[in-house]
Amino acid sequence: MSNVLVLVDHTGGKVRKTTAELLTIARRLGEPVAVFIGDNVQDALPALGQYGATKVIALTDPELTQYLVAPKAEALQQVAAKIEPSAILISSNSEGKEIAARLAVKLDSGLITDAVDVQEGPVTTQSVFAGNYSVQAKVTHGTPIITVKPNAATPEAAETSPEVEEFDVTISDGAKTARITDSKPREATGRPELTEAAIIVSGGRGTGGDFSPIEAFADSLGAAVGASRAAVDSGWYPHAYQVGQTGKTVSPQLYIAAGISGAIQHRAGMQTSKTIVAINKDEEAPIFELVDFGVVGDLHKVLPATTEEVTKRKS
Ligand code: FAD
Repeated sequence: MSNVLVLVDHTGGKVRKTTAELLTIARRLGEPVAVFIGDNVQDALPALGQYGATKVIALTDPELTQYLVAPKAEALQQVAAKIEPSAILISSNSEGKEIAARLAVKLDSGLITDAVDVQEGPVTTQSVFAGNYSVQAKVTHGTPIITVKPNAATPEAAETSPEVEEFDVTISDGAKTARITDSKPREATGRPELTEAAIIVSGGRGTGGDFSPIEAFADSLGAAVGASRAAVDSGWYPHAYQVGQTGKTVSPQLYIAAGISGAIQHRAGMQTSKTIVAINKDEEAPIFELVDFGVVGDLHKVLPATTEEVTKRKS
């Protein structure tokens, strides 16, 4: 069976859900081999084994994490030269896509970004024109390199005990031209990560800039907070929380849109949510076309009342 490389997305050894999704997809294509860059590989092993990694290649050279992405692309090139994988899967975030692009040049291989599904072949599906069209594609030259969007697969447990192989890499001076001088974790909100949350409560222009009812309702449900671009562009909420075509793609069990009209660019990031609820004071708002439940009303009245009810029922 051919090896399929999966670049592990993690913070200090804590593996992100997207990696579980990539490993699940990799199992459809061959034998999943995880590539872990950084420290604390031992902390990552249980999660990598749970989703079927048969081997973990650990790259612990500190130079790999002291610079921007160029050394990581070089390292992956060296791993690929040794393992000769049939495909390489990387998370579709900004770092992942930059690594993938550099790697594609180095390996003289085709690259497909932002896949929302990957099947045997590997044949990818991409959602284009704000989700209005699906495109199937296949790399025809070199080793297929595919970046995969969050929630492209439901993680399926496989329970393996992967062996760890330390791998030495050589980083060229040319890859060390931009060093990271400082990094600060985003302020902890205590809420789940947007792309991994089971429930998301998003606010739009209809909040009028006051996200406190959105946050209070989210906290009553243990949910993440999202925002429309109108809210982000107005400076009401940080861009990291934007849902949509130029923000994050989410697919939670429950997506609650409050004061959001439902523009196609917003839908592109949330329309695959399992259950969609909207609160909007305009009964003609386009968001009501795709909801499972709709509430016509003022979010500043509906949300506090609902939060109170949820809190009462929990106690
Ligand atoms: P609006 O469209 O202004 O809607 C506000 C809604 O709130 C209205 O329906 C109104 O009835 C309702 N409302 C007002 N007051 C209340 C109240 N008190 N209670 C309840 N409801 C109320 N948008 C995104 O969201 N994400 C993206 O990633 C994104 N990418 C884009 C990329 C491109 C290239 C372009 C051109 C646009 C993009 N947009 C994106 C913008 C998108 O087209 C819309 O402008 C945006 O989604 C609108 O945000 P909104 O629904 O919050 O605001």
